[in-house]
Amino acid sequence: MINLETPRKLSPLAAQANEVAKSVFRPISRKYDLAEHEYPKELDMLAALMDGMEASGEMSGAGASGVRRDGEGREEGNRNGSNMATVLGIMELCYGDVGLLLSMPRQGLGNSAIASVANAEQSERFDGMWAAMAITEPAAGSDSAAIRTTAVLDGDEYVLNGEKIFVTSGSRAELIVVWATLDPSMGRAAIKSFVVPRETPGMILERLEHKLGIRASDTANFRLENCRIPKENLLGSPDVDAGKGFAGVMQTFDNTRPLVAAMAVGLARACLEETQTCLEAAGIVVDPARPANAQHAAAAKLLSLEADYEAARLLTMQAAWMADNSKPNSLQASMAKAKAGRTCVDVSLSCVELCGSLGYGEGSLLEKWARDAKILDIFEGTQQIQLLIVARQLLGKSSAELR
Ligand SMILES: Cc1cc2nc3c(=O)[nH]c(=O)nc-3n(C[C@H](O)[C@H](O)[C@H](O)COP(=O)(O)OP(=O)(O)OC[C@H]3O[C@@H](n4cnc5c(N)ncnc54)[C@H](O)[C@@H]3O)c2cc1C
Repeated sequence: MINLETPRKLSPLAAQANEVAKSVFRPISRKYDLAEHEYPKELDMLAALMDGMEASGEMSGAGASGVRRDGEGREEGNRNGSNMATVLGIMELCYGDVGLLLSMPRQGLGNSAIASVANAEQSERFDGMWAAMAITEPAAGSDSAAIRTTAVLDGDEYVLNGEKIFVTSGSRAELIVVWATLDPSMGRAAIKSFVVPRETPGMILERLEHKLGIRASDTANFRLENCRIPKENLLGSPDVDAGKGFAGVMQTFDNTRPLVAAMAVGLARACLEETQTCLEAAGIVVDPARPANAQHAAAAKLLSLEADYEAARLLTMQAAWMADNSKPNSLQASMAKAKAGRTCVDVSLSCVELCGSLGYGEGSLLEKWARDAKILDIFEGTQQIQLLIVARQLLGKSSAELR
């Protein structure tokens, strides 16, 4: 049976991340929300501290690069490993601020992609570098199989051409993991991921996006024009195996979707706690031990939001636990992402509603959290796409049969 309490051995890590959320992230949250595109320099010291803790083993595997599912160094039996550690760390940090978590050096989704599929030589070569992830294109969002960026082998180099939009940390990271096709006529099977150092000639930063939320995080658009990278920068196998289809690159999502779900869970908890404080200040008691229908309507609403939050948290932990124990978790990763994304949007907006004008003004972070929440229901696969994946898996249908 799976025990979904916070694992005892990971409690110190969660407590440290919670401390960072409260004492580092929260005090600068509003400042970098208002100063969109300005790099939060306070994160440099924190990132160095985290690197040191990871190197010493004190916080092993708690960063985005901690996710891995190849069984390397794996003990037998039921274990909570780096996926669970990462998910718990992220929940706590996003209790502080999602935009700042996304701005943390060396904690990009590209780092998770490298950790998920890189070979030993690549893992060593890219170790300690900050990596963003570039999948989306103007004509390829939810349908990643529609990617048109091409990678053509020329001697010992791949030559990349195309356009990538909405790249989180694109202007700050040192590496961009770019999805491109080796042969557009071969469909999904030919799509591979390539590690492109951002300063490579031909990797052209076009502009940064202005956004509804997570404004501390930079979102960049790139044009790739005859961008040449060593052929050793292809992640996974260079072979185009029509039978395996999308398996190689899609494996990344099984690891990264629980991380985005964890962001949503952390943000939802921040909203719930802030709202409880606000209700208590208004004399409304929220008592989880009493039936909701015997309490103030606002308290009953908060209790129902907490039930949703708890369901999202448990699904997220389940998906991470399965990855740690080498169990196929695509279904659970999508369930967690769908539930947590929807929940954090519902919770954050309901909390603004429950707190009234207090929740809507800039005097409270609830206003900001309500704006930050929506992206968690969009990137790494939208709500609708997660439900589609869940339906396909439950009904045993292929992507061609159910689209
Ligand atoms: C702030 C921000 C940061 C981002 N960061 C990154 C990043 O780091 N790297 C990256 O590669 N991408 C990133 N993205 C892009 C993000 O992953 C895409 O926006 C997302 O995948 C949706 O693609 P789209 O915007 O093209 O929407 P579309 O795919 O055009 O979808 C539009 C709407 O239609 C729905 N829809 C589409 N297909 C179906 C279907 N078959 N059935 C039902 N509904 C459907 C969608 O759910 C959505 O509601 C980011 C986006 C934002 C806004």
